[in-house]
Amino acid sequence: MPDQQIFPDKERILIGISSCLLGEKVRFDTGHKHHSYISNTLGQYFTFHPFCPEMAIGLGTPRETIRLVEREDGIHAVGTKTEDHDVSIALRDVAEQQKDWHKDLCGYILKKDSPSCGMERVKVYKGKNPKQLVPERIGAGLYAEVLLKNFPNLPVEEEGRLGDAVLRENFIKRVYVYRDWQDMIESGLTMKKLLEFHAAYKYSLLAHDQDRTRALGTMLGGGNKQEVESLSECYFVEMMRILKIRATRKNHVNVLQHLQGFLKNNLDKEDKAELVETILKYRDGILPLIVPIVLLKHHFRRHPIEWIDNCMYLNAHPGELMLFNNL
Ligand code: SF4
Repeated sequence: MPDQQIFPDKERILIGISSCLLGEKVRFDTGHKHHSYISNTLGQYFTFHPFCPEMAIGLGTPRETIRLVEREDGIHAVGTKTEDHDVSIALRDVAEQQKDWHKDLCGYILKKDSPSCGMERVKVYKGKNPKQLVPERIGAGLYAEVLLKNFPNLPVEEEGRLGDAVLRENFIKRVYVYRDWQDMIESGLTMKKLLEFHAAYKYSLLAHDQDRTRALGTMLGGGNKQEVESLSECYFVEMMRILKIRATRKNHVNVLQHLQGFLKNNLDKEDKAELVETILKYRDGILPLIVPIVLLKHHFRRHPIEWIDNCMYLNAHPGELMLFNNL
């Protein structure tokens, strides 16, 4: 069963990225924050569009560092030494000006903690006395904030969180889903395609939230041709929200057992027992998720079922990325 069979790779996937993560010397101190997993591993599958908002607004290197400060009229990005060096409007404007290429992206990797690029938990300095401001991790970088507002469904992650196996798999899976969705829309949306898309991703979604996935299926069941565009918009918003929820081991077991059920008339006693035991060992944390998935794919290859070739749960992303090996 080839990976990504129903949504063949037309070209490499375009991902936006904070320039410093690719090793570009754009940081305030003329340094960079090269991330080798991103460039060496993800770089084999993704094409990166690097962008440094602080360089884009003309700050140059080296430069005074900036920080987020809460004022009466909202959050400002200002110099850490020069309070009236306020680049808030410039950072927000430059984000708006990038919409033309942002719309072609299938994901974005941002530099954590940055007052420009950070996705969340960026320090915001607060307090009545300007000389004694206290930081709270409640903000987002001003460039990132506009990006997230303009493209709320876009998979976005910070490099620091890619070290977590669950978050890494989650982000990359969402990138592939997003790409497949864009391809489907470009090919001309129909109700039939929307239903096929849901059928392809149903098991992936079930691993994240069973109730919400069922509700999503019910929502599609009530659709008709006239409303396919508005229905698809609501569908995709909810789909991406469900996929952001952490998939649980319990839900994965449920999905694996469900898929195992489609083989019940094809496997002999020994093969059945082996599959049951493999899933239970995954449930108990003895085996990683990749083992029952490989075994299921092996059995489905020997006992083909037409629709299973389109089951994206078994083909979520390229096997070489080994994203199921640590789950
Ligand atoms: S975090 Fe963003 S603004 Fe800062 S150097 Fe990196 S790309 Fe530039």
